[in-house]
Amino acid sequence: MAAQPSPRVANAPLTQPAAPLLRIAQVEKVYGGRQGPVRAVASASLEIGRGEFVSLLGPSGCGKSTLLMMIAGLETPTGGTIELDGSPVIRPRRDIGIIFQDATLLPWKTTIENVLFPIRILKLPLAPYRERARELLAMVGLGGFENHKPSQLSGGMRQRVAICRALIHDPAILLMDEPFSALDAITRDQMNEALSEIMDKTAKTVIFVTHSIREAAFLSDRVVVMGGRPSHVVLDERMPFGRPRRLAIEENPEFGRVVRHLRLTIEQAHGTAPTGRSAGGE
Ligand code: ADP
Ligand code: MG
Repeated sequence: MAAQPSPRVANAPLTQPAAPLLRIAQVEKVYGGRQGPVRAVASASLEIGRGEFVSLLGPSGCGKSTLLMMIAGLETPTGGTIELDGSPVIRPRRDIGIIFQDATLLPWKTTIENVLFPIRILKLPLAPYRERARELLAMVGLGGFENHKPSQLSGGMRQRVAICRALIHDPAILLMDEPFSALDAITRDQMNEALSEIMDKTAKTVIFVTHSIREAAFLSDRVVVMGGRPSHVVLDERMPFGRPRRLAIEENPEFGRVVRHLRLTIEQAHGTAPTGRSAGGE
């Protein structure tokens, strides 16, 4: 991995690495539509260092997915530039891993075959990746489930498989678009803790889209609040919590203070606050 130390180490100095891995400069997206153009993102600028976990937080419709899809090279910005590792993102790239709300596993394939699917698509030799797939599955707590089919797995387990699939070719950056929104509140909490632990181990750079303030505060090194009409970055705040993190951190008064501050920022930008960790509120 990168030579630079990961910020996801307990008590690591909160300094930005010299060269950011991802540079988003004045990015804008206007969708053409039958009812006229929709300005989904306006002048978003953001830099993300290697090993950082950054959440994009804001209510539905504020342009989070649009920005993430542009970072993935799946949507083309109508203005501005996106650079990953020094080269412009203009199409989907191998050094980007992506996870959506739905795990989208192939139902007829086993767990390990689903994890190896990108390797088949990329036509890389399977043998060396088979071992890596087993290691990843063990890391996410799915050792022994290699030959299960998706229908034999719970929703949380399926998302763990999707995480392994996104990590199999060791992408420079992992993009996650509300990956736990479809899970029940208890499973979602478990997945938040599991993801935090997994990311501490892999030290990956992550951009995590969510409309849950608590989820963003719990998982992230930095929380970027998107807001306004059209949407732009209204707050970019470093989370003052060490690692590893456990859900008990939510009992911490400092955590409560950060959550209130984020909520207030969102209220000021949008007039309303999004829901909490789960759909049922906080
Ligand atoms: P979020 O992920 O924060 O919920 P989106 O990025 O999905 O927000 O959407 C931002 C805005 O762009 C919304 O007003 C949405 O209706 C609009 N939008 C998203 N995708 C398209 C599209 N393909 N064509 C037209 N408008 C779109
Ligand atoms: Mg979205």
